[in-house]
Amino acid sequence: MIKADAVIIGAGAAGLMCAIEAGKRGRSVLLLEHCEKPGKKILISGGGRCNFTNKNVSPENFISHNPHFCKSALSGYTPDDFISLIEKYNIKYHEKKSGQLFCDDSSRLVVSMLENECKNSGVRIIVNCKVKNIIRNDFFEIDTESESIQTGSLVIATGGISIPKMGATDFGYNIARQFNIGLREIHPGLVPLTFSGEERKMFSEISGVSVDAEVSCKSISFRENILFTHKGLSGPAILQISSYINKGESISVNLLPETDFYEILKNNSDRKTQLSNFLSVYLPKRFAQAFMNKYSSSGPLITFPDKELKLISDKLHNWKLTPSGTEGFDKAEVTVGGVDTDELSSKTMESKKVKGLYFIGEVTDVTGWLGGYNFQWAWSSGFAAGKYV
Ligand SMILES: Cc1cc2nc3c(=O)[nH]c(=O)nc-3n(C[C@H](O)[C@H](O)[C@H](O)COP(=O)(O)OP(=O)(O)OC[C@H]3O[C@@H](n4cnc5c(N)ncnc54)[C@H](O)[C@@H]3O)c2cc1C
Repeated sequence: MIKADAVIIGAGAAGLMCAIEAGKRGRSVLLLEHCEKPGKKILISGGGRCNFTNKNVSPENFISHNPHFCKSALSGYTPDDFISLIEKYNIKYHEKKSGQLFCDDSSRLVVSMLENECKNSGVRIIVNCKVKNIIRNDFFEIDTESESIQTGSLVIATGGISIPKMGATDFGYNIARQFNIGLREIHPGLVPLTFSGEERKMFSEISGVSVDAEVSCKSISFRENILFTHKGLSGPAILQISSYINKGESISVNLLPETDFYEILKNNSDRKTQLSNFLSVYLPKRFAQAFMNKYSSSGPLITFPDKELKLISDKLHNWKLTPSGTEGFDKAEVTVGGVDTDELSSKTMESKKVKGLYFIGEVTDVTGWLGGYNFQWAWSSGFAAGKYV
C-alpha cells in the first residue's frame, strides 16, 4: 500500500498545475495518468502552438449554470501568473488576436515546463496507470492495476469526453455519480455544426469559403469568421456559438454587420448590374452567387421591386439557420456541462458533500470560450485545489 497526502487523477492541464502547487507546499503528491504521457491535449492545442491563456480573461467568457462560480479561482491565479511562469522558462510567445497568447514554437515547451515544475516540487507522475476502483473509509483507497494507494485528498482532473482518441474518458462523471455528486447535462462545445437537406447541399457546394459575420443565439453574439464545410458550418464564430445552442435551436447570422444593406440597395436600385455581382462587392463571389441562387431570382438591380430588396437585405442581416446537429464529441474542443458547481467550494474546488474529494478543470460545469480561456480555467482551478489538498 502506497500512502500519499494527495492523489490527482488525470495529468492534463488542471492536474499538472494542481500537482505542482500541492508539491510546492511540501505535500507528497501522486499524479496518475492512464495514457502513456501527460498533457496530450496541451500538445495538440492551438494547432500545436498552445493558446495557453487570454490576457482579457473575465468571468463573462465562461459558460456555467452558476456564472459566479469561476470568479474566485480566476482571481486567485490570473493570466499574468501563468505568463510569469512561461517567461521564467524563457518560452517565447505572441498575441494572435483579442488577447489570445500562443507559443512561438511548440506546445511541447508548455508540457516540458509543467513536467519540470512537477519534478522540482517532488511530484511523482505515474503513466499508463489504470484506476480500477475507489472506495472511501477514513481515507480514499484507490486500486490501480498494479498498486493500492491511500490518500486523504483525491483530486479528479480527468477532463471532459471530447476527443476520446486523445485519452478523454467519462471517468470523472462516474466518480461524481459514485459519490452522489450532481452533474449538469453535457454536450459538445466549440464544435462544427451540421445541416441537412437544401442547406447542407448549398454549404457543401461552397465549402472552403469563409465570411466575416456576426452569429447570434438567444442573447449572445460572436463576430468572427464563419466557414462553409461539406457537412455544414465551422469557423471561430460558429465554434463559439455551438457551446451555447441546444438541440433544435436556431442561430441568426448577420452577413453584413457593418452595413445597412437595405439603404445600400435602395441607393443603387437604378443600376443595371446583376444583383449577385453587386453583392459580390460586399461578400465572397462564390457565396454571393450561391446565396442569390437559393433565396432570390436573378436579374439586374433595377428590375427588383423595393419589397424584394427589403426581403433580401433582411435575409442577409438575419439569416436564420437551424442545425441538424453537431460533429459531436469526436470533433469538439470541449465538453460543456459536467460536475455541478453547486456541489463544490468555489475557493478550493472541494466537494461540499465528500470531504477531501476535489474536481478541477474541464470535468466541472465551467466551459470557456475559444481563445485560451479553457486552459486558464484549468490553471486557475488546478491552482485553487493545489493550495488546499
Ligand atoms: C484539439 C483541441 C485543441 C484545443 N486548443 C485549446 C487552446 O489552444 N487553448 C485552450 O484554452 N483550450 C484548448 N482546448 C481545450 C483544452 O485542451 C481543455 O479545456 C483542457 O485541456 C482541459 O484541461 P483538463 O486538465 O481539465 O483536461 P485534459 O487536459 O483533458 O486532461 C485530462 C487528463 O486526464 C486523463 N484521463 C482521462 N481519463 C482518465 C482515467 N480514467 N484515468 C487516468 N487518467 C485519465 C487524460 O488522459 C488527460 O491526460 C483544446 C482542445 C482540443 C481537443
